[in-house]
Amino acid sequence: MILIEDLEIAPHLTYGEMMDRESGLCLAHLRLLHAWTAFRGQLGHPIRVNSGFRTESYNRKIGGSPRSRHLLGMAIDMQCAVIDLSDLEMIPMLICCGFRGIGRGDGWIHADVRSTATFWRYTDAGIVRDIEAYNVHEGG
Ligand SMILES: [Zn+2]
Repeated sequence: MILIEDLEIAPHLTYGEMMDRESGLCLAHLRLLHAWTAFRGQLGHPIRVNSGFRTESYNRKIGGSPRSRHLLGMAIDMQCAVIDLSDLEMIPMLICCGFRGIGRGDGWIHADVRSTATFWRYTDAGIVRDIEAYNVHEGG
């Protein structure tokens, strides 16, 4: 039996991984799917998707930003068991693949396809500007 949740909406990305965890709705911006496909192809390792599209209701419940790109199907939170995606060295590859908003957590990242490069870190003290990522981006 085919489970719709397991159908891929892009290479190695299923409907179930991208859909809102509460409602089952799924919205995926074409630009996100392009960036994902390029990134997943270059990385060459499985990626675990922690969060994709979110409805306002679910986003509120988990404490997401009110203007989160997850609400527009333009963001994805992900991690990889083989390579630390939150490593600074991932920034050029992510930018090259089309991601522009990059938030680095502890072993995981938020990546979205907004129009201007914006970098931040998730820390115990809250969200802070990711100066190191800006330096890598602007220097290279
Ligand atoms: Zn996110």
